[in-house]
Amino acid sequence: MNDVVIIGSGPAGLSAAIYAKRAGFSALVIEKAPMSGGQIVNTYEVDNYPGLMGIGGYELAVKLREHAEAMRAEFAEGEVSQIRLNGELREAVTKDKVYPAKAVVIAAGAEHSKLGAEGEDRYLGKGVSYCAVCDGAFFRGKTVAVIGGGDAAAEDALFLAKGCKKVYLIHRRDRLRAAGILQERIRSVPNIETVWDTVLEKIDGGEIVERIHTANQKTGEKGALSVDGVFIAVGIKPQSAGFADLVQTDENGYIEAGEDCRTSIEGIYAAGDIRTKPLRQVVTAAADGANAIAAIQEYFLKKQKDFKS
Ligand SMILES: Cc1cc2nc3c(=O)[nH]c(=O)nc-3n(C[C@H](O)[C@H](O)[C@H](O)COP(=O)(O)OP(=O)(O)OC[C@H]3O[C@@H](n4cnc5c(N)ncnc54)[C@H](O)[C@@H]3O)c2cc1C
Repeated sequence: MNDVVIIGSGPAGLSAAIYAKRAGFSALVIEKAPMSGGQIVNTYEVDNYPGLMGIGGYELAVKLREHAEAMRAEFAEGEVSQIRLNGELREAVTKDKVYPAKAVVIAAGAEHSKLGAEGEDRYLGKGVSYCAVCDGAFFRGKTVAVIGGGDAAAEDALFLAKGCKKVYLIHRRDRLRAAGILQERIRSVPNIETVWDTVLEKIDGGEIVERIHTANQKTGEKGALSVDGVFIAVGIKPQSAGFADLVQTDENGYIEAGEDCRTSIEGIYAAGDIRTKPLRQVVTAAADGANAIAAIQEYFLKKQKDFKS
């Protein structure tokens, strides 16, 4: 039995593992993917993690894992399908095993929804991005397209318009779903052009993105736009399906937890992109890992007192 079981070995889970070991706990990290690091593994460059400017995503993932291993955190492969409550114990359940612990940190992260357009995978990291905050700086002075019509797409367009020469906001309907205030702002920014009723069919270029091919949903008319980057903002899905029956989630499936990472169930914590929070980045995920363990330290102390009294 471990003191802490951590589900997921992205930045949040690995940071939690490092802090758990520093606190003197036994810690087991369960990961479903062949390699640790989570979403950053496929990121060409992480340019905003303090102290490691310009580090490759893969390299940062390896460093985080090595750090957790050097602290003697343990690792297991498997996909946790649910967490069970067994008296004071919390049990992480995979297809073939049950991992009991005194506390569980859910650090299973999130996945950006793909559009499914031709060229989307080929140009990932070569002009295609799912994260304007992360990659916007690479497109300063350039022309980009943002695909989507919700709050995330509108926010991305506004963010990118500050540094880019031109931003096309491409939406398949004739009105945005984004909040009214965001729509107003979009209308007032001169270098954002909204392209209505239009879907992205293909991303094209040489080594890097050079243009996109579009189709008008109403007229069927095909078109092409020269762009340097394509930001896809058609949704992000927290990987919380297996836990949503147990802990409270919001309407989008994010686990309800504040900065101390406590969930609605005692002894279960949510860290990183999977929890309700305003900014999903490596630095905030790593901070959550630390905060979750600090909260667990308090929880263990309280439990000891409860047992004594
Ligand atoms: C293309 C892209 C570029 C980005 N660039 C930057 C950047 O430059 N700077 C920046 O700060 N942020 C960037 N981000 C955001 C950053 O990657 C995330 O905020 C961060 O990775 C969140 O860390 P996390 O540990 O919470 O989750 P994740 O990174 O999503 O890791 C979750 C881990 O949990 C595992 N897992 C999921 N479910 C289970 C389960 N049931 N059982 C076991 N394991 C499970 C997953 O396989 C994964 O390894 C980028 C994101 C993307 C998609």
